[in-house]
Order: sequence, then C-alpha cells, then structure tokens
Amino acid sequence: MGKVLVIGAGGVGTVVIHKMAYLPDVFTEIMLASRTKSKCDAIAAKIGSNRIKTAQVDADNVPELVELINSYKPDLVVNVALPYQDLTIMDACLETGTAYLDTANYEPKDEAKFEYKWQWAYKERFEKAGITAILGCGFDPGVTSIYTAYAAKHHFDELHYLDIVDCNAGDHGKAFATNFNPEINIREVTQKGKYWENGQWIYTEPHEIHKPLNYPEIGAKESYLIYHEELESLVKNYPTLKRARFWMTFGQEYLTHLRVIQNIGMAGIEPVMYNGVEIVPIQFLKAVLPNPGDLGKNYKGWTSIGCRIKGLKEGKERTYYIYNNCSHEAAYRETGTQAVSYTTGVPCMIGAMMYIKGLWKKAGVFNVEEFNPDPFMEQLNIHGLPWVELHNMDLEL
Ligand code: NDP
Repeated sequence: MGKVLVIGAGGVGTVVIHKMAYLPDVFTEIMLASRTKSKCDAIAAKIGSNRIKTAQVDADNVPELVELINSYKPDLVVNVALPYQDLTIMDACLETGTAYLDTANYEPKDEAKFEYKWQWAYKERFEKAGITAILGCGFDPGVTSIYTAYAAKHHFDELHYLDIVDCNAGDHGKAFATNFNPEINIREVTQKGKYWENGQWIYTEPHEIHKPLNYPEIGAKESYLIYHEELESLVKNYPTLKRARFWMTFGQEYLTHLRVIQNIGMAGIEPVMYNGVEIVPIQFLKAVLPNPGDLGKNYKGWTSIGCRIKGLKEGKERTYYIYNNCSHEAAYRETGTQAVSYTTGVPCMIGAMMYIKGLWKKAGVFNVEEFNPDPFMEQLNIHGLPWVELHNMDLEL
C-alpha cells in the first residue's frame, strides 16, 4: 500500500519499525535512516525480515535528506529523530513533495523553548505543494490530543476544562535516568510551568503546583503541573476551553537529582570551554546517563496517561476520563524497549497508517486533533494501547 522512510534509530524508532514490520499490507516498503547506520542495522537485524532497508543520513543537512528522499521515493517521511531536526526534514519534504509526520514540536538548539510557531509557519507552503504534514503523533502530544478530539466529537457539545494526566509508575532500578532522550527530557521538565486559563497563559515556577492524583490500577502519585506542547494547539482548536493543564508524576528521588543537576549547571545549554574544547553541559550529561533505550530490561510497572475533561452535553455538566495503562514489561517483551518508547512509537505507526490508507490526507500542516479521531482510536485497541472510558466521576481536579 505505501512506502515509508523513518528517520531516527532511537527508542521510539525501534518501536515504530517493529510495529510497521508486522503490517506488510500497509507498509509495503520500509527504510530506517539515522545518523549512525549501525544502529539502524541492529534494529533491522533484530526484526529479522529482510524488509527493512537502512541508510545513513544527517538530518540537519537538507541536501543530504533531499538526496536520500529522491533516491528512495517514499510516500511518507516519519521523523523520530530529535525535535531539532523537524524544520530541516520539513524543508526536505517540501523540496521533494513528500508527506511528513513527527512526534514532537521543533525546538531551537540554543533556546530551551518549544512552540508550534515555527512549524505552523510552513502551512501555506505545504498547502501550495499539495502535501500533508502531521504534527505531534506520539502519546503526548498525540493520543492525548486524539482523546480530546474523540471526547469533543462523541461526548460533549462544549469542552470547558481539560487536564492531561501523565503518570509513569514504573521502576527501572537506576538512581537517575530519563525515559526518552535526556537532553530533550531535562529541557522539558526544568522549564517554567504554564497553563491556559480564561483566555491567557499563566506561568508558574518549575514544579510549583502539585497534588496527589489517583491513577487507575496504580493509586495516588504526586503530580506536578508542567507545560506540555499539545496545550498550545488544543486551546487553539477548542476555543471553548476555559482551562487546560498538563500534569506529570515525578518521584522524590528523580526531583532531587534534577535539582542537583540544575544547581551545579549540568542542565546548561550554553557551551563552556573544557581543556580547550567547547562542550554543552547537558549534552555531556546525556553521554554519562543511562541510555533510555536500554532501560527496558529491568523496568517494572505501568504508565497511565489520559485526559480528564469537564464540559457540557445537551446543557448538562458532564465529566469524562479516558486513559491507557501500558506495562513496561509487556512493551519490553514485544519490542525490547520500555513503555515510554512504546507508547510513543505505536501512535506514530498508527498515524503513518492513517496517512498511507488515505484517512488522514489533506494539504497543509495539521496537529493530530484536526483529523477524524475514530479510525485512529480503533487501531489503538488493535495495536497494544487499548483505552478505557469513565463517565461522570470525580476528576479530582
Ligand atoms: P533517542 O535519542 O533515543 O533517538 C533519537 C535518534 O535520532 C537517535 O538514533 C539519533 O542518532 C537520531 N538522530 C539525532 N540527531 C540526528 C541527526 N542530525 N540526523 C539523523 N539522525 C539523528 O530519542 P527517542 O527515540 O527517545 O525520541 C525520539 C523522538 O520522539 C524525540 O523527538 C522525542 O522528543 C520524541 N518523543 C515524543 C513523545 C510523545 O509522546 N509525543 C514521547 C517521547 C519521545 P544517534 O543514535 O546517532 O544519536
């Protein structure tokens, strides 16, 4: 049915390739390209079929990307490298007339800030070229945005209050590790908190607002208000929202390590000179921290991510909670990765499937909630991320 080029051979890329390889009728040809070709070869060898082609590419380099895309001629480029590469890959897609999908919004390397403005600025060019760009198709952003679209379509006339709740109750047995790329992860969780209320953004100190929330099958976990990128597109696409917030659980041990890392300057993104060589502290830190892709083996427990929503249906106030629980052990048994890579890679594959099947195909740049959520939701149940709905319950928020 379709030919895909996946860029990025990390934890998420591993899951995307595993899942695509199971579906030869949809993904008839697959290529995995990354900065380090040996990592692509190792993933392809583990899957074992000869269906996965591999290539080396520097995704910061547009001419290199254009050359690869022109030689392979995919229908869709799936970007699971880092957010720094979003714009160069979008440029290469425009130049070659190829559709684009990613899981995280663009971040400039020299500024710890994520905003959609850089990618939304491509809208007209993608429209004129007649090609599709699908932004933020992981779990959060991704499934959380699609849960919101599904709730708006089937359960509410107006969404008023949205709280996205992300709990990782897993234990990897390490004193400190991040669950996805440490540089991106630490930049995300150490920035100021931010949420939407009554038509404006409210800012907080990092981790200033927190409270225990109960997660299904897990129990109470201290949850911290942080800023997360899907809030930006959701408040734009659902203007009836009076408030939109994002909560993430952190253990005390994790927060203590994070505080020390920040206080001693190891989370810095400005280069420093060391023995005559320029190094970026957070990039050096990444080099000494455990590789998130290797955490899976001893990871035990669950992730639980969902949306808690309050709004109106036929004039009456309703509450609604939709979530998925994913087991780290089960994710590891299936793909050799932990649940954070799994919960990102599965929706990314499903988004690619939606495009290849022609179900999510229109010219322009779109966040996932702008497409029909129904066929995507069906596939979540089939491919390892089943969802549960609770109605008219106490949202605790
Ligand atoms: P990893 O660091 O494990 O993998 C990133 C991969 O991209 C590595 O293989 C790396 O190559 C490759 N890469 C980096 N720079 C380049 C480049 N210039 N050219 C080519 N390849 C490059 O990250 P993850 O797999 O954990 O995360 C992948 C993406 O998924 C990130 O953008 C992350 O933000 C996003 N994400 C989204 C989530 C969601 O729910 N929406 C949740 C978790 C992650 P090398 O191996 O050589 O370093």
